[in-house]
Amino acid sequence: QPPLDVNLIRADFPILQEHVNGRRLIWLDNAATTQKPQQVIDRVSYFYEHENSNIHRAAHELAARATDAYEGAREKVRSFLNAASVNEIVFVRGATEAINLVAKSWGEQFLQSGDEIILSHLEHHANIVPWQQLANKKGLLIKVIPVDDDGQILMDEYTKLLGPKTKLVSFAQVSNALGTVTPAQRMVELAHQAGAKVLVDGAQAVSHIRTDVQLLNCDWYAFSGHKIFAPTGIGVLYGKEALLNETQPWQGGGSMIKDVTFEHTQYQAAPGRFEAGTGNIADAVGLGAAIDYVNHIGIDAIYQYEHYLLGYATQLMKDVPGLRLIGTAPDKTSVLSFVFKDFTTEQVGAALNQEGIAVRSGHHCAQPILRRFGVESTVRPSLAFYNSCDDVDTLVNALLRLRRSRI
Ligand code: PMP
Repeated sequence: QPPLDVNLIRADFPILQEHVNGRRLIWLDNAATTQKPQQVIDRVSYFYEHENSNIHRAAHELAARATDAYEGAREKVRSFLNAASVNEIVFVRGATEAINLVAKSWGEQFLQSGDEIILSHLEHHANIVPWQQLANKKGLLIKVIPVDDDGQILMDEYTKLLGPKTKLVSFAQVSNALGTVTPAQRMVELAHQAGAKVLVDGAQAVSHIRTDVQLLNCDWYAFSGHKIFAPTGIGVLYGKEALLNETQPWQGGGSMIKDVTFEHTQYQAAPGRFEAGTGNIADAVGLGAAIDYVNHIGIDAIYQYEHYLLGYATQLMKDVPGLRLIGTAPDKTSVLSFVFKDFTTEQVGAALNQEGIAVRSGHHCAQPILRRFGVESTVRPSLAFYNSCDDVDTLVNALLRLRRSRI
């Protein structure tokens, strides 16, 4: 039985009242971005109505309000991730910027020709391209952990790839294309035994499963606010405090300095050293409100409900003739990637849109893993806790009708 009241929750999300092509909107594109509850929308408006100022540098009341709101949001993120200190929470634009920050600061500073980086076959392009750019520049070698036919990491192969030259392992906690949950804690442990640092891409994980960076023991953790019911343009890089402080910043400018002469600059300690210029203050505050919202429902209740809904959807979709699910790992969250016999993925996406159902069809910025399964594109419904069994039924009925149209 569902452990949360989905009707009550849906009332918090005004966009779910929208109609598309004359039908009630069914938002099943949560892996691309999530919708925002009224509480987040109101919090961002409140900031602009009552608190708006630049932070940290003025002596006036609104600067104090804005600074309190921004730093308060940092504390909410710290607590949500169970990081040891707020100094470990860097606000960035999103997961993409978080990963680029590590590649272009730590990677530039500490990696040398001949060093090896291990990625998994599941990665989003955001966790491939920055490393490739660095590898081309520095002469690094990128190795890839293969997956089995269900889309699970092959742990024996991973162990074989690790060695004295491995300096970094970077992988997704949840695959955006298949929904696979990777055994992140064990993977971090093995990487550390080999002396490597570890970045975990949590973009598809934070809104679905409890995250504890101290338990995970990763060196960095990246996520985007917009995938956890917060605005776009705000995200987080968590990094262990000592590691952040021994890393030279990648961008220079205001706010990140202690002292500047024309000859020399002294940097702030983390997180300030990685937050050059005026950041996205209002949306950081919005992220804090989104975390409050998630905490109010409870991430464990969310996990249980989504697990139930994913099982329900998987069962029904398996019975749709001509539907091939891609990504069948036992440990999955949220994502149901598939191809549909006799239809292109674009055709399926367009037909569902006609019925008010929003899904993504395409390569999901993860071309290598789709090619591993012999396809260039899939249809990808992806769930959040405001989706209901009714949403799933509507999706499946639309697919069954589409199938009948070809018989
Ligand atoms: N990693 C994963 C696993 C993702 O799913 C995404 C977003 N699709 C990203 C990274 C990049 O996130 P953003 O575009 O918000 O920076």
